[in-house]
Amino acid sequence: MSPDATPCESLAEFSGRICYMSFGDNQSPRTNADYIANLIDQGHESVLEHVSWTFLLTGVSRAFTHQLVRHRPGFSYSQLSQQYHDEADADFVRPYGLERYPTALQSWSKAMEAAKAAYAAIAGALEAQNQSLDTELSKKEQSRAIRSAARSVLPNATETKIVVTANARALRHFLFLRGAILGDFEMRAVSALIYRMLHSEAPSFVADFKIGILSDGLAVVEKV
Ligand SMILES: Cc1cc2nc3c(=O)[nH]c(=O)nc-3n(C[C@H](O)[C@H](O)[C@H](O)COP(=O)(O)OP(=O)(O)OC[C@H]3O[C@@H](n4cnc5c(N)ncnc54)[C@H](O)[C@@H]3O)c2cc1C
Repeated sequence: MSPDATPCESLAEFSGRICYMSFGDNQSPRTNADYIANLIDQGHESVLEHVSWTFLLTGVSRAFTHQLVRHRPGFSYSQLSQQYHDEADADFVRPYGLERYPTALQSWSKAMEAAKAAYAAIAGALEAQNQSLDTELSKKEQSRAIRSAARSVLPNATETKIVVTANARALRHFLFLRGAILGDFEMRAVSALIYRMLHSEAPSFVADFKIGILSDGLAVVEKV
């Protein structure tokens, strides 16, 4: 095993070496960085699936998580439920840079306030009606029905929280597809977080990516 590797990198290298039992005298004299680069080059990326991260994203919009959860193999998700959680005090994620455009910002702020007011009005009206009606629904299901109706007016900007578990191979694919979509500021911001997480714990897993900052102040993560 290469002595220069981080624990994440060692696990991937160990898993790769098991395939050929290339330990000790059978071990090629490579650094971990060279070993992982060669695996990636050869398309032997399943080895990277043994290393995964679990992280919490907060302060992201439902629009963002809708895109995120399109990523399937190697990803697991647990997201705040708008059916169980009362969203009367929901926050909204302001699109990056909107503060520079006062007219657009004003329209956006008004729309958020209106959505919040509509949510409260719908929930309040349905709760009052439920109290005066016979219903077959349990309290829990009444609440689900009310919040389902009320949440229908919440915008894409509604703040959410999501726990993500993803393996290194899946995260690399995510960065490849999503890291450099220049007009998608929120996606770029999260891609930068993911890149930095991998880079600090397993730099060889993302050695074929680079990160830069564009004139808009946000990062871009690109495959080299
Ligand atoms: C710029 C951009 C624009 C987009 N626009 C739209 C849009 O307008 N509408 C829309 O609906 N989506 C859109 N998407 C989402 C896109 O279609 C994918 O759903 C998303 O990017 C996830 O990609 P993926 O399937 O490769 O990733 P993952 O789900 O992470 O899958 C990884 C890989 O596993 C393999 N794989 C996964 N599932 C299957 C399967 N069922 N069968 C065979 N192979 C599989 C594929 O090789 C795939 O690349 C867009 C994505 C991007 C990046």
